[in-house]
Amino acid sequence: MLNRLLSAALVVVATYASGRAAEPVRYRLSFPEPQHRWMQVAATFPDLTPQTLELRMSRSSPGRYSLHDFAKNVYDVRVSGKDGRELPATRPDPDGWTVAGHGGAVNVEYKVYGDRVDGTYLGIDTTHAHINMPAALMWAHGLEDRSATLTFEQPPGRTWRVATQLHPGSRPLEFTAGNLQYLMDSPAEFGPIAMRQFTVDSHAFRLSLHHTGSDADLDACVKEVEKIVRQAGAVYGEYPDYEPGQYTFLVDDLPSAGTDGMEHRNSTVITWPSALASGRLELLDTVAHEFFHSWNVERIRPSGLEPFDFDRANLSGELWLAEGFTQYYGPLILHRAGLTDLSSTARSFTTLVDTVVNDAGRHTRSAEDMSRMAPFIDGGRTIDRTNWSNTVVSYYPFGGAIALALDLALRDRTDNGISLDDFMRAMWRTYGKPGGSREGYVDRPYTAADAEATLADVSGDKTFARDFFSRYIQGHDAADYPRLLARAGLAVRKTHPGRAWLGDVLLVTRNGVRVSTLVAPDWPVYATGLEQDDELQEVAGEHVRGESDLNTALGRHKPGDRVPIVFTDRTGRSIRATVTLAEDPHLEVVPVETPTAAQKAFRARWLGK
Ligand SMILES: [Zn+2]
Repeated sequence: MLNRLLSAALVVVATYASGRAAEPVRYRLSFPEPQHRWMQVAATFPDLTPQTLELRMSRSSPGRYSLHDFAKNVYDVRVSGKDGRELPATRPDPDGWTVAGHGGAVNVEYKVYGDRVDGTYLGIDTTHAHINMPAALMWAHGLEDRSATLTFEQPPGRTWRVATQLHPGSRPLEFTAGNLQYLMDSPAEFGPIAMRQFTVDSHAFRLSLHHTGSDADLDACVKEVEKIVRQAGAVYGEYPDYEPGQYTFLVDDLPSAGTDGMEHRNSTVITWPSALASGRLELLDTVAHEFFHSWNVERIRPSGLEPFDFDRANLSGELWLAEGFTQYYGPLILHRAGLTDLSSTARSFTTLVDTVVNDAGRHTRSAEDMSRMAPFIDGGRTIDRTNWSNTVVSYYPFGGAIALALDLALRDRTDNGISLDDFMRAMWRTYGKPGGSREGYVDRPYTAADAEATLADVSGDKTFARDFFSRYIQGHDAADYPRLLARAGLAVRKTHPGRAWLGDVLLVTRNGVRVSTLVAPDWPVYATGLEQDDELQEVAGEHVRGESDLNTALGRHKPGDRVPIVFTDRTGRSIRATVTLAEDPHLEVVPVETPTAAQKAFRARWLGK
């Protein structure tokens, strides 16, 4: 700790102070051996003051909430000064290189390995270079406001194209960004991409696809994406002004791609293996989610995420709104666009309602607390065990369930006169539309208090807004979903009515039949002391050799029955106990068989059809 503090005190950040604009930071990306999955980066930091330069690799990536330490894939680092002489670089911490005595400019060359095609990392091979900038580019403390130019070199024998939200430069394969925030927020796909364009309300949209399918597949997909773009625009009543003049969907449909979507200001990266062939609906749901983010999170931005910090994890208590509300709108937009039917939309509500009603975590952490767990749960890996299955509900379904409740509550109070769309529009007008005075920044990020004040304003009822926030967002209540959904002719019912249940215990065969899940405090079997790793031997007199034996044993009983259970805990102690079975509490949302005219009318105003 002392070392770190000392070095921070000694290193004065190098900035350029003079009348004229400083030269941009320049990056050149080349791919001499793409088959070995590394990229060569040459970066030049010109116009420096004499102070030591602190070079960094990011620890985080815009849109990810956890740390990823991209320095881990950087190697063969060579640094030289203004006169071209090689200079030593010292390592103040795992993510940095400091360079002294550079004479006013630093050149750094390094290799970076990357073999992951998703919305966060770097993926290089002979078919493309899929580049998320934080995973690839070194930057410098104090030069955050410098513009940057980025030049791609064709790999041997290839003529690839670039798709990105970066601005075109003065030459082919050259691109620019106004500052570090925008540069890091701008992924690039360099490969044999197909590109399609369309225009909605005089806003331009591009879909870049790297895939192995046919042009017909692509053209069909573009038509569906356009429908989504129209419905998302209808929620807000207008589109943002996309800084490069258009919004770009960067889609990788490749066997080697991960399943991911990541939002940016003027683009999104979506990677989905076999999406066009077999996963079209999941792809479109991701398109709807990520595109909705171009308003909600990219411009309607929680204060905790602004500005994005590349040295540490940002913390926001508002991800239930930024992510959760976006999660709710994805399937809603698909439905309104005519791309899904009522039963499929009801299934998306099932996930939200069942999670928020039945997951134990809601009793421990509020939606705001869950949002603050993001730096741990968003792709972060733990070596130690956690009890998150009992104490954490992801802010995606949690926030989605809050959005569903709020949308229906607003509609219920006003006979469909006011809805969540009005709330999103109000947030857009106040916090999103004013934009940023610098590219890549948001000048008016919001707090939870701002969101509550906006709800008070939109609903015209301060008490309603306070009550909703205190119960469902800051508190631990679940909304009355059966009543709210009934207005639209949707029923909330038990998935397995009358089925005897001792908890969602999962088993694995490993040195006997063992419990592979944590046991939640609200499961009937919790009282017996059963826990993860214990060896389950008998339930209700039935010898248990696997989950089917357990289900058979429970199938002979009804809720309220008291049955014996025999297990050995992980210390080897044999335990006999009695468990009082409950009714399986899991819920599903289904359309009622014969909706009334009023229910049909309500549903039409809400879902479109
Ligand atoms: Zn999202």
